[in-house]
This record gives sequence, structure tokens and C-alpha cells, in this order.
Amino acid sequence: MTPDKYIKNYIDGALVPAASGAYLDNYCPATGKVYSQLPDSDEQDVQRAVDAAERAFPEWSKAEPGKRFRILMRIADIIEQNMEEFARAETTDSGKPLAMSMSVDIPRAQANFRFFATAIVQFGSESHHMAGEAVNYTLRQPLGVVGCISPWNLPLYLFTWKIAPALATGNCVVAKPSELTPMTAYLLSKACIEAGLPSGVLNIVHGLGNKAGQAIVEHPVVKAISFTGGTATGKKIVATAGPMFKKLSLELGGKNPNIIFADCNFDAMIVDTLRSSFSNNGQICLCGSRIYVERPLYEKFRDELVKRTQFLKVGDPFSAVTDLGALVSLQHLEKVESYLSLAEVEGGSILCGGTRVEMKGEYETGYYLRPAVIEGLPLECRTNQEEIFGPVVTITPFDTEEEAIALANGTVYGLSATLWTQDISRANRVAEQLQAGIVWVNCWMVRDLRTPFGGVKNSGIGREGGNEALRFFTEPKNVCMKYG
Ligand code: NAD
Repeated sequence: MTPDKYIKNYIDGALVPAASGAYLDNYCPATGKVYSQLPDSDEQDVQRAVDAAERAFPEWSKAEPGKRFRILMRIADIIEQNMEEFARAETTDSGKPLAMSMSVDIPRAQANFRFFATAIVQFGSESHHMAGEAVNYTLRQPLGVVGCISPWNLPLYLFTWKIAPALATGNCVVAKPSELTPMTAYLLSKACIEAGLPSGVLNIVHGLGNKAGQAIVEHPVVKAISFTGGTATGKKIVATAGPMFKKLSLELGGKNPNIIFADCNFDAMIVDTLRSSFSNNGQICLCGSRIYVERPLYEKFRDELVKRTQFLKVGDPFSAVTDLGALVSLQHLEKVESYLSLAEVEGGSILCGGTRVEMKGEYETGYYLRPAVIEGLPLECRTNQEEIFGPVVTITPFDTEEEAIALANGTVYGLSATLWTQDISRANRVAEQLQAGIVWVNCWMVRDLRTPFGGVKNSGIGREGGNEALRFFTEPKNVCMKYG
């Protein structure tokens, strides 16, 4: 299970290069160096993957759920047995601390398979009884061949969050991980082969979004697309798949607010706010990037957040003492830096961070940035409106509950929001008015896999998680039977 220099596609049960034979460079963000190659797949590879999935569908879709359960559980076991290899591969590919890959990314990838393996053997469908006349029952049937496309920030975690429910419900899948972080998806292909997943049930095609990804979205046989990524990409997917009447689940960008009232439990709040600001270098769609603090607490909060941010250790992602590793790519580092310059032009003050970390030796050319806290920016400015997706937060005081809600709701996004208060009535009142798919009260990133997950406004369409995912990947068919 060691990473290979040449990543292969997983099509029809075999590990194969792209039909064209072309490869793309795969960078290690910690060193800024190319360390492997991934297939530069195109529509020929997608066609082969779709053909294999179509061939596999009749048998897989009719397999009793217990068979799917056993194979998915085996895949989870193999990931668990090779946890360290998977975690090291994730860190090498993404730049995130190994501690995070070991405690969050890879455990969650296994959990995704276990969760949906067990869910499918307990999944039921509805019936509607018309007393004395008829009974309606709803069949929940797999869609056929479906596409799953995922981003680079939580590579295997999000890839398997889509693939596991798609397979559990009897679909066959053509999936594409991000071209920036392909390695754990490749290791997953090996795990699927070892677990005895029948050929063609899952196909993993590597490559660029506008080439391999686009070919999946526009393929007429692919019935549904489950996509996680940026809002601009989501728009392109809708433009292609909408007129083809494909089923779509889109988990897109965010610009999430944290609302902190003066009556909060300060110690718990400051610890979680630091996490929600800078975990994974702020490269989690659920990170809180706009922090609103009730005025009486503002100065104390600002000073403590800045102090703790300055203590965070940025560096070698493989070191146990590192809090923040490298950003995912040079292009992304430059994008985040461009927002820091913009924030100053827009009148903000950078209270700490925002500068590159000078590293030594092999890490000299890696993508390291000190986490930044900015104050003094209005809601309408681009820094507060656009998703930066890096270790950058803005802080702003507010005076009233109404003002806090208006600020929180004042962007085109609506993924998640975090609320800190000891007043339970206020917590319920504010949570109800926030335009977000997920509201955390006095916590952040507490996840129960049964709950609906997704965003409103430009943060997406549809929901993942629990029964929502099982419903997305099945088509309901009502059968009405009249008595006698
Ligand atoms: P991205 O949109 O650039 O890419 C995501 C995936 O889509 C990649 O695999 C890419 O190759 C592919 N892709 C790109 N163009 C495509 C096209 N035309 N057709 C089909 N596929 C295409 O996003 P990213 O930079 O990889 O990820 C960061 C973004 O993801 C951020 O905006 C972040 O908020 C978002 N995100 C959202 C969630 C959520 O649950 N809402 C979770 C994680 C990340």
C-alpha cells in the first residue's frame, strides 16, 4: 500500500494509465516539489469508465444489501489497517499536519464506509395506506451510473462521503478526486481491489476538472452528479447538467460567520474560535472566516485571539508540534496573499500574520503562511464578501442581536454559522434567522453523520448525510395497488 510514483486510473477493476498515456505533475506542498505523476485523463477514459460501470450495474444493483454491506465494511477495514500509509499520503499531497490526517481525514474516510454500509441494511421506504381502497408503496431504486467529484481540502474524507452512499444504494460510480490531491484516491482503488469490489462498480478517473471532470458531467449515461467544490465550478456544472435533467447535489463555497455574544463561555469559545479560524489552514468549507463580537467583549476577544494566533506553529506538516502545515498549492498561496493586500487597500488592519514563513532545507520552497487576523473592514468589501479559503479571518464588533444577524446573513453564501451565547432563548431565536444549512451553538465541527449537510444560497443545492444521501442516490417510484 505504499504510494507509487505513477498514479493510475481504476477502471473496470484494473489500475491503468490514461488512454493518451499523458501524465500531470503532482506537487508536495510541504516542499513545493513534484513527487509523483497522475493520469491526465480525457473523455476516452471517462467513456471506458462509464462502459465498465454500465456493465457492472445489473448485478451490483440487484445484489442483496448484505453483500454490499460486507464489501464496504471490508474496504473500511483495509483503510484502518493501513491508516498510517493513508495519512502520510494525505499529508504529502495536501500539506496538512499528519496529526490531522491521522485523527480526522482517514478515520472519517473509514467511518463513511461503515456508516453507509450499516445504513443500507436498515434503509426502509414509505407506504401510504388509503383505508379500504388501496395501498401505495414507494420503491427506492438505484439511479444507474453516477458521478462523484470532490475537492482537495479534505481529499479522501469528502471523496468517500459521496462514493460510500452511492455504492451502498446499488449505483455504479465514476469518480474523480481533485488533481491536486489524487494519492489517497489511488490508495483507495487498491483497497477496493483487495476488498473484492466487483470490477466496474467503482471507477476512479484522475485528471483536470475542465477535461476529465467535465467529461463525467456531460456524459449522457451518467444520471446524477454529486459535487463538492467551488461555487464558480458549481455554476458550470449546473449549466451542463441542468439541461440534461440530471439529479444534482452541489456542496459549494462559504463565507461563514461566527457570532459571539458577551455572555458566552469565553474559555470554550476562544479555543473553538481559534480552531474554526485556522484548522487545516482555514481550508475547510465550514471554517468561520467572519467573526462578529458583541462590543463589550470585543477588545478582550481581539487581544486573546491575536495572542493565540501568534502562538500557532506553522511548519513541517510531519512534525508533531505543527499546528498549520503548508497551503495546498503555490497558486492558492498567491490567491490568499492577494486578499491580504486587498484587505489593506480596503482599509483593514492586519493585526498579525499574513507573511510567508522562511523555512530551511527541503521545506524552503514549500507554501507556508502565518495565519492572519484583520480588523476594521466593512461588510460590503470584497475581503468580507468573497471566499478566501485560507488562514485569514476578519473581526468586527456589533451592538445588537438584529445587527449581528444582518451581518451574518449579508453575503451570497449560506453554508454554516457558529453562535456563542449562554442565553438559550437567544440561541434558538438567532439560529432560526440565520441563512445557513448548518448552525453550531457553542461548538464547531461537531458532526453526526446522520444529520443533513449542505448549504443555502450560493453555498449549494441539496443535502448530503444520513438518509438525505441515500435518498439522493435512489429514485423513488410509487406503486399504487387497489384492493380486490
Ligand atoms: P474546484 O471547484 O476548483 O474543484 C473541485 C473539483 O471539481 C475538482 O475535482 C476539480 O477537478 C473538479 N472540476 C473543476 N472544474 C470542473 C468542471 N468544469 N466540471 C467538472 N468538474 C470540475 O474546488 P477546489 O478548489 O478543489 O475546492 C475548494 C472549494 O471547495 C472551496 O470553494 C470550498 O468552499 C469548497 N468546498 C465545499 C464544501 C462543502 O461541503 N460545501 C466542502 C469542501 C470544499
